[in-house]
Amino acid sequence: MGALRADTKIQFLKGIGTRRAEAFARLGVFTAQDLLWHLPHRYIDASQVTPLAKARVGDEVACVGQVVDTGIQPTRRGLKIFRAVLRDASGLLECAWPGQPFLERSIRPGQTLLVAGTVRFYHGRQLSPREFIVLAEGNGEDAETGPVIGTVLPVYPATEGLSHKQIRGLIQRHLDELIALQVDAMPEALRSELALPGVQQALRAVHQPGSLLEAEAGRRRLAFDELFDLQLMLVRARTLAKRQRAGVSFEIRRDLTTKLKEGLPFTLTHDQVRAVREITGDMTAPERMHRLLMGDVGTGKTVVALFAMLLAVENDYQAALMAPTELLAEQHVATLQALLRPLGIAPDLLIGRLTASEKSATRRRLSEGRSRVVVGTHALMQESVSFRRLGLVVIDEQHRFGVEQRAALIGKGTTPDVLLLSATPIPRSLALTMYGDLDMSVLRERPPGRGDVRTDIRAGRRRQSVVALLRERCGRGEQAYVVLPVIEESERVDLRAATTMAETLRAELTELTIGLVHGRLKAEERDTIMRRFRAGEIDVLVATTVIEVGIDVANATIMVIHHPERFGLAQLHQLRGRIGRGGDDSVCVLMVDGTVPPRLESFARTTDGFRIAELDLAERGMGDLIGARQSGGFVLRHAKLPEDAELLERARQEARGLIEKDPGLTAARHQGLRERAVRRYPRAAELFRVG
Ligand code: ADP
Ligand code: MG
Repeated sequence: MGALRADTKIQFLKGIGTRRAEAFARLGVFTAQDLLWHLPHRYIDASQVTPLAKARVGDEVACVGQVVDTGIQPTRRGLKIFRAVLRDASGLLECAWPGQPFLERSIRPGQTLLVAGTVRFYHGRQLSPREFIVLAEGNGEDAETGPVIGTVLPVYPATEGLSHKQIRGLIQRHLDELIALQVDAMPEALRSELALPGVQQALRAVHQPGSLLEAEAGRRRLAFDELFDLQLMLVRARTLAKRQRAGVSFEIRRDLTTKLKEGLPFTLTHDQVRAVREITGDMTAPERMHRLLMGDVGTGKTVVALFAMLLAVENDYQAALMAPTELLAEQHVATLQALLRPLGIAPDLLIGRLTASEKSATRRRLSEGRSRVVVGTHALMQESVSFRRLGLVVIDEQHRFGVEQRAALIGKGTTPDVLLLSATPIPRSLALTMYGDLDMSVLRERPPGRGDVRTDIRAGRRRQSVVALLRERCGRGEQAYVVLPVIEESERVDLRAATTMAETLRAELTELTIGLVHGRLKAEERDTIMRRFRAGEIDVLVATTVIEVGIDVANATIMVIHHPERFGLAQLHQLRGRIGRGGDDSVCVLMVDGTVPPRLESFARTTDGFRIAELDLAERGMGDLIGARQSGGFVLRHAKLPEDAELLERARQEARGLIEKDPGLTAARHQGLRERAVRRYPRAAELFRVG
């Protein structure tokens, strides 16, 4: 074998043959470089090993001992517990793994084991290890690994046929030569300013840390690089998107926009005023607008969007608003009709359920330019639809549309301005990674004069008190949602529970009309029921989570949520946003069986969507959120949010500064950075194409 190179196939490394290379392939490790970047996903702190006899009940300990006995013990409830007794110079300690009888195959007498976990009292002291590592087999087979005591042990993602112990051994063995392959692309000045270690030092720290602190310092450096590359790409994408315009700038003619402001039945909130100013700034600039307006349900995004639409219209352009469902589109058109009537503008509606002749009439009005404001669904982006002069596209609940769908509508104008709306508040750190290529306006403040939402937590057995609440308030003409969770794994059981709930309520509340919607209904059936609810023909709507975001039934003031512990906090927040839309005081009741989890208590105490999004992020972690909310999102391997929010801000600043100076990263000294970004994010290849 010649000298080791970054792209050397892994099977040519000592200790790795074809068989192990196959196992490594399952972990996405193909080359020497990949092996170096196969990082531990956790550590066991064995730097402080407690002698077995000194492990006290309640302590969190790491111990090392030789296995002297093992066995499987059945419990009365049919659970099988695997037990192993460890011995060291100080004495004995029993370890127990409930429900893991299969460990019999990996833990055997004679082995030296490292275990970490909490000591409990169970017929004596007993450790139930969260972690264990076989340090030595005890028969000489593994002598080279030896006990690695007094260090922090990295634990690697492993696979069948390749244990994390083997991976650790191989990485340790090759670490020096692998690290030597690594070049640091970060300018020295920046590195010292941020007090981050060099990349070689960082990689050594994560693979071979002397302490957990050292490992963390290494991880932070790798996290910064990852965030920085992502920001380079997003900042670049943003610059390119904004530039793509022939140079149409709208002018403030104060014609329609001023009339709208004067005719509004309310004053705009500060946040709305700021958002309108930001949008106006974008639209009057020669670059194209590419902005996200983010605000909780009820913060008044529609009227802000309407300002933008009128600015386009008073410049003799057309404006289109696209919503993900017919119900939402109908609701928007009703809102716009009311606000636009004094201005003599009648918005058009284009949705699938109109008759063919209605649709073709609207299409004609659009292509001839007689229709100036149009609201619609996916129907808007169909091929048969064309505009005379489309100047602004507004997309409500933007995440419900794919990138191509948004592009299909945007493509109907010549580089129209784009305003995306989102009712899902997310913390800034997350926004910077998900939407870093957009400019952002945020509505945090709620308009005054709206009803408060009080959140009550009640014990599940007090269901009768909820029935009484429904009887009283719905008897007065208010309306209620009763929500039950449906999750895929138990969908049939869950649906049955929702059906049973509706039947029970029908029997208990004979004077009220009870409706039921769930995900298994056809879209039209669901819409029909929702329309009846909106029209007040249904008093209590039993629903699984299919209640549309953005549905505005001002008269609905009660929300009862069963099994709230099965929902994410952000999801609960979206649900609660269905009420409190009118002036009446609304109440949200969480029915909880058993002890109340602290997360639900926090939820009950605040209605700030951004605050809840932060809690949700801390609870679920970043990858999960991005995966769930945004296809085509980015997986962060090293960075952790919100913990690394500060690093992210710095990465953003630095990336902006760099792109400003060298937009395409074409300077020779930036070549390393460009290559690294492209290696990490395939999309960067397009954005930083050379030449
Ligand atoms: P969002 O789309 O952000 O959920 P909407 O735009 O539907 O919210 O607005 C919710 C309601 O609040 C609408 O009835 C709207 O007329 C009203 N509204 C908007 N802005 C204000 C304001 N500044 N003061 C009072 N009411 C407002
Ligand atoms: Mg809305």
